[in-house]
Amino acid sequence: MIVRSAIAKAAQHAGRDPATVTLVAITKTFGEAEIVPVIAAGQRAFGENRMQEAQGKWPSLRARYPDLELHFVGPLQSNKARDAVALFDAIHTVDRPKIAGTLAEEMARAGKKLTLFIEVNTGAEPQKAGVLPEAADAFIAECRERYGLSIAGLMCIPPLDEAPAPHFALLQKIARRNGLAALSMGMSADFESAIAFGATHVRIGSAIFGARQPTP
Ligand SMILES: *Cc1c(COP(=O)(O)O)cnc(C)c1O
Repeated sequence: MIVRSAIAKAAQHAGRDPATVTLVAITKTFGEAEIVPVIAAGQRAFGENRMQEAQGKWPSLRARYPDLELHFVGPLQSNKARDAVALFDAIHTVDRPKIAGTLAEEMARAGKKLTLFIEVNTGAEPQKAGVLPEAADAFIAECRERYGLSIAGLMCIPPLDEAPAPHFALLQKIARRNGLAALSMGMSADFESAIAFGATHVRIGSAIFGARQPTP
C-alpha cells in the first residue's frame, strides 16, 4: 500500500521507528467490497465515525477476520456507549464527564477494557467536539481519578482552514505533561506532519479508499 510506505518514510524522516505508528484505515461510507481487499493486503486496524453504519458492516467482518482491531473516531452519545464497548476496541473521542462515566460503567459491565483517547478541540472551534486545550489537564485527571479510566492518549482534528502543525504540536505538549504516550492525529492530507510531531495513530480514509461520496 502506497500509504504504508509514505508513513514509513515520514517516520524515518522524523527519526522514529515506523512500527510506532499505527495506521487506522477509516472505512466510513465504504462497504465490504472495498474493505476486504485492504484486509487481504494485511491491514488490521480500521475506524468508523458513525455507530449505526459500523453496526451494519463490522459484526460480520469481525466474525470472519477475528484479528482485526476496530476504532471509533466519531461523536459518541452516552446512550450508544454500550454498543460502542460491544463492537469496538478503541474510542478516540472521549470528551466529557458523562461519556467517561458511562464508558467506565459499560466496560466494567462487559468485562472489557477499550483503548481510550481524549479528544482535544485544539482550535477551540465552537462546532467541534473535544475538550478545550485549557481544560484538558483537569479532564484527564477527572477521567483517571473519578472514573478510574486508563487513558492511552489524546486525539485532535485540526481546523480545516489552518496549518495543522501548531495543533499537532499543542496536542503533543498536552500529552507529554500528562504522561500520555499515544497521539491520534493526522489524516490523509496531513499525516506526514502529524508523524513528525509524534503521532502514534494516523487515521486515514480517502488516501486508501479514494474520495468519499458526500453523505446525506
Ligand atoms: C473521516 C475521518 C478521517 C479520515 O479522513 P481522510 O481525510 O479521508 O483521511 C479521520 N478522522 C476522522 C475523525 C474522520 O471522521
